[in-house]
Amino acid sequence: MLVLLFTRQDITELYPDPIAKPILPKRAKGFLSVDTYKCDLCAKCVAICPANCISINKNSLALRINYATCLSCGYCTRTCPENAILFSKEFEGATKNSDYFIHEFNIINVRNIKKENL
Ligand code: SF4
Ligand code: SF4
Repeated sequence: MLVLLFTRQDITELYPDPIAKPILPKRAKGFLSVDTYKCDLCAKCVAICPANCISINKNSLALRINYATCLSCGYCTRTCPENAILFSKEFEGATKNSDYFIHEFNIINVRNIKKENL
């Protein structure tokens, strides 16, 4: 027992590690990301989301996602006709302020947005 006590390695690691990025599996699901060039605010992802965590901000022409309530089910990614919403590899989200979990993606190609979508 004493031998183990004096020979064991220190296993405490710095978190979050600012340098080393883990190699994630191909299908790992991090935070959702929206390609703001492709998205046309059709709202199909809004309608399919079982957790009601996607909404459209019509004033700022943005897609709003609440990461705090997202289930990572992937319905939105499979429903999007433009392939504009996908899981990123970003997963470091520890915070004391839940407001940081709400993210707005401002649509860049506003000409893509059809009038009936607004
Ligand atoms: S992410 Fe896709 S499904 Fe959602 S509003 Fe944009 S284009 Fe439509
Ligand atoms: S992954 Fe599921 S829960 Fe999360 S935003 Fe998409 S549809 Fe909603």
